[in-house]
Formats: sequence, structure tokens, C-alpha cells
Amino acid sequence: MRTLLRGGRVVDPAGGFDGVADVLVTGGEVSAVGPGLTPEPGTVVLDVTGLVVGPGFVDLHSHAQSVAGQRLQAMDGVTTALELEAGAMPLERAYADAAEAGRPLNYGFSASWGAARAKVLAGIEPDSRIESALAVLGNPQWQRSSSRKELAAWLSLLDGELAEGALGIGVLMGYAPFSDPAEFLAVARLAANAGVPTYTHVRELVEVDPAIPVDGSEEIAVAAAETGAAMHHCHVNSTSGRHIERVLGTLDRSRREGSRVTVEAYPYGAGSTAVGAAFIEPERLRMKGLGPSSVVMLESGERVADEARLRELRSADPGAPCVLEFFDERVPADRAMLLESLAYPDAIVASDAMPVFWADGRRESTEWPLPPGGSTHPRTAGTFARALRLMVRETGTWTWLEAFRRCSYLPARVLDDVAPAARRKGRLDVGADADLVVLDPATITDTATYTDPTRPSVGVRHLFVAGVPVVGDGELRVDAFPGRPVRGEPR
Ligand SMILES: [Zn+2]
Repeated sequence: MRTLLRGGRVVDPAGGFDGVADVLVTGGEVSAVGPGLTPEPGTVVLDVTGLVVGPGFVDLHSHAQSVAGQRLQAMDGVTTALELEAGAMPLERAYADAAEAGRPLNYGFSASWGAARAKVLAGIEPDSRIESALAVLGNPQWQRSSSRKELAAWLSLLDGELAEGALGIGVLMGYAPFSDPAEFLAVARLAANAGVPTYTHVRELVEVDPAIPVDGSEEIAVAAAETGAAMHHCHVNSTSGRHIERVLGTLDRSRREGSRVTVEAYPYGAGSTAVGAAFIEPERLRMKGLGPSSVVMLESGERVADEARLRELRSADPGAPCVLEFFDERVPADRAMLLESLAYPDAIVASDAMPVFWADGRRESTEWPLPPGGSTHPRTAGTFARALRLMVRETGTWTWLEAFRRCSYLPARVLDDVAPAARRKGRLDVGADADLVVLDPATITDTATYTDPTRPSVGVRHLFVAGVPVVGDGELRVDAFPGRPVRGEPR
């Protein structure tokens, strides 16, 4: 199959090109880029004059591993959606399930530190599903430090998952915040030896809890310096809150000293997690300057009234998803802090997309438009279009070239070492994977809100995954499942 995208503004963050050109897609590859390309007979020609053509967004942080979730992400410009922070175990099952159900977007998983620990420390058999992983988070049994024997046991589980092709190691350190820092160093060493990155939800910051064994962001800097591992700092906006400037300073220093530290952010002032998470304990909320009313339950929409109610919810169903408001997006100073995390040099846009679920318990839907009443965090549907609206359209902080560097090029480069196939992603030159987004630079915007979180973004006119249209003329193609696995190649 051949498609010619004619007359668009082509943006290639790899070569620094931004200009009007045609793009020819042959099979799953970009086969030509240049002015005035002549199509052979049988080529589908799309006039994309006035639209921006760039490499599709590579999302390093998506828990929305379902057809429903991926379709929302497709409408947001994403062509590759990876579950790297939590990871999945057993890895083989996660890949097999995705392949069997079919995926509109490329997919992939890291080895799950949380699941490996829960298996060894609490005897919980992992089933590779995010719902099960969320349900385990609040269980104190897996949060303790490991004995030497236990440490060896779960490190070896992770090592096995890397050999199967995991894209690195996902570390939910913030959910076991008092575990021994020596264990994190051991994980970093394992990653460095295997030549794979780690993706960490960091522990609490020392400003928030002086009793924490080590400051969450400093821990990344120290481990990266000591082991040489490539270490990715997840959602710096949500884990740093009002201490964003100090945290970015810590990461800056570490990067200047040559450590391989990368960082991501999403453009929302509220996070989302399971209500049983360690950092939603009433005492810990107080330390952050937050209270029970910063927590809103996703399923019921209930804003938590007081500490007694919060404790009740945490013990009744610790896996229940909720929203945690760490900024007030209506307050200009809070908005400025949010934008600061995105504006940080080389900060990658990543969504932390959450699963979509319905009141009757369904966690998947192949209907489109999605059935009404779906619950999730609006970042699932809107992260990338919102980042483009805020950072390009409204504030002019990023050029389009810079936007594609943050959304496509830099995230793909995080994967280069572990998955050599990623080298063809995040770029738009001859030989690149034909994972492409064609968007309207004048109208691109998010429309999802906290109360109506599954409204798709607007402005993505066409989206190709491996050369196959997933969005055409702004409409999702319900029969498109071209998503391919992205896998690590063990060293
Ligand atoms: Zn997280």
C-alpha cells in the first residue's frame, strides 16, 4: 500500500527539518520526503495543505493498554503507547494478550518491579493486568524491605523478564517509600549491566517527609551516577508538586555531570492512582499541604469529606481509582509551576494514561464512539493535544519542531539502546517507520475534562501506524488494528 501526503508542513525533529514537502509512505515505511513527488498509479493521494505532518507521538507512560484507551490516544496523536512505569508481569502474557485482542497503536511493556516484589514478598501471583497491579499497591506486605534472599529472588525474576524482551524496568518506588535504598541501587546495577533503562515513580521528597530514607529525586541522581544506568524520572509534575524548581535543579546537576537521566511531565494539575496508595495516607497528604478533599473518587465522583472517610475508602477498596489534585489549575501561580515542568529543557511529554472503565465493571469496549459514562483521568484522552495547545498555540514556548522533539523524538531515543527497532521511530526521514500524525496547527486541542474524561482530542486529521490509517479525515477507523509490539533485545 502506498500513500502520498501532499503539500503539508513536514516537521522532522531528527534532522531539524520544518518546511513544505510531500511524504511518500510505502508499506510500513517512509520511502520519500521532498517537494513535488509524483505518485505511481495506485497510490492513495491525500492533500494535507495547511496541516502539520510529523512523526506520531511516542508515549512512554500509558496504563491504558486496551482498545478503548488506545483509540482515545490515537485521537490525541499517539502512535506508540508503552506501559513502562508499572510494567507488566508475566511479560509474555502481556504481549500475547495485546496481540490476540489486536491494538490500533504500537505497544510494549517493561519488567514490573512491583509485581516481582509482590510475588516474592507477599506471595501474590502476577497476572499482567493493570487492575490487579492497582489492587496490590495498597497492600503493606509488598512495601517492606527485602531480605538478601528475597532481593536475589525478585532481581532474578526481573532479569528473566529482561531476557524475554522487556523494555527496561518499571519501578513504583513511591508506592513502597520506606523500602531499603540499597535495593534501588541493586535494580539500577541490574539495568546498567543489561543495558536497559529504568522508569521510576520516585519516593516522597525530603521537603515533604524529612523521615524518608532518601529524597526521591536525589535517589535517581545518585543511582544514575553510581551505576551508569539510564534512568527515566516519571511525571516530574505530579511527584514534585510545589518543589518542582528544586527537583529540576537536582536533575539538571545530575545531567550536567554526565548522568543518563531523562524526565517526563504531563499538563494536568491532578494525578490519578489507587486510593490505597502509600502517598494518599491522610498523614502524608497533610505533609504535602493537601487534605482529604484533594481526593476525588473516579467511579462515584465523590470528593472525600474528611480523614475518617478517606480511611474508610482506603480499607474498603484500596484498588479503587481516584484523582489527587496537587495543583489548583485555576490559580495562575499553580499553572505556571505546571508549565515549568513541561518547559524544562528536554522534558518529554508522557500521558500516564489510565484505563477506561464503566460503572457496570467493564474495562474494555470496542464500540466507537465509546459508550457514555466511561471513567478515567482526562490525561488519557488529552495529554498531547493539551500540551500542544498550551506550549505551542497559547504561549509559543515551543516551536512545532520543538514540540515533535518532546512528543516523538526524545521518547524514542530513551528506547534506542534496549530496542534498536525504536531507532526508526520519532523521526520523519527516508527509512523511518510510517507512524505519522497529521494535525491542524490552528485547532489542535484537548476536550476531555475531569467530569467528562473520555472526550477525544480535536485536530488530529490523519494518523498512520505502520503505514495503516487509524484516523482518517478526523474520524477513527474502527477496523484498524495495525499496532505492533515494541520489544527489547536482550544484550
Ligand atoms: Zn506514577
